[in-house]
Amino acid sequence: MDEIENIIGGMIPKRPDPENGDFYDKEGLLCCGKCKTRKETKVTFPEMFGRERDKVVPVMCECQKKERDETERRFRQEEEMRRLEDLRRSSLIEEKFRKATLDRFQKTEDNQKLYSVARKYVDNFEQMEKDNQGLLFYGVVGTGKSYTAACIANELLNRQTTVIMTSFVKILQEIQQPQTDESDFMSKLNYPRLLIIDDLGTERNTEYALEKVYNVIDSRYRVRKPLILTTNLSLQEMQDTPDIRYKRIYDRIFEMCYPVRATGRSWREQEAARRYDSMKKLMEE
Ligand SMILES: [Zn+2]
Repeated sequence: MDEIENIIGGMIPKRPDPENGDFYDKEGLLCCGKCKTRKETKVTFPEMFGRERDKVVPVMCECQKKERDETERRFRQEEEMRRLEDLRRSSLIEEKFRKATLDRFQKTEDNQKLYSVARKYVDNFEQMEKDNQGLLFYGVVGTGKSYTAACIANELLNRQTTVIMTSFVKILQEIQQPQTDESDFMSKLNYPRLLIIDDLGTERNTEYALEKVYNVIDSRYRVRKPLILTTNLSLQEMQDTPDIRYKRIYDRIFEMCYPVRATGRSWREQEAARRYDSMKKLMEE
């Protein structure tokens, strides 16, 4: 097969290139002066008019093949980069989370667990997907839940996995745009292998909004694809809600998502403490 491809690849008749040091070998076939391999080969064509015919045809020498392979490799690489860029663009990930990866994850005592859950989820994604298993990151504001979810998104995107990361606030805004076809939009949310919805509980609590929230979660459930959610609500708040409209939402979520608690002081508190410490040092020195 390679030989045939070679022949086709080199259909243009070859002339010896003196600058390249090309020469003819003992069998009278043209060779490359650089790599010393043949630029021509003899092919025996099937019998025609009662006699076999030998014909000399051009082929690629080793350095030409290498050059072709390199061109193809570069082309494939560019293709892949373009695909990744497309994937990223359609992932809807916010600019501030674009660079969130597990390598850049700043581990502290508090967020160690988030990191290890994210790492395991990414590494076992095929299984997670098969089991329709998602995650629910819950806990107080600013403990890195969204960042962790974004790390999962970016890691999977880098592995050419389709991911969408958005929020219910944005979903509701989108649905209410006059030009949006709601069922089209909903199926778009069901398309990616992983859907991440940030900040459950910050959307308005109108009948309408809650209906949509339920529909998004439930339709994801029906297509049997995993969902990751983040929320500032506590597990207790979710489990004990007396509101039937919320209850059916949370019940679905608990069915699909493994709860992971984000603990520790928020980034804001840590930042405030850091500022306090450095100010104290300055003032009392
Ligand atoms: Zn050559």
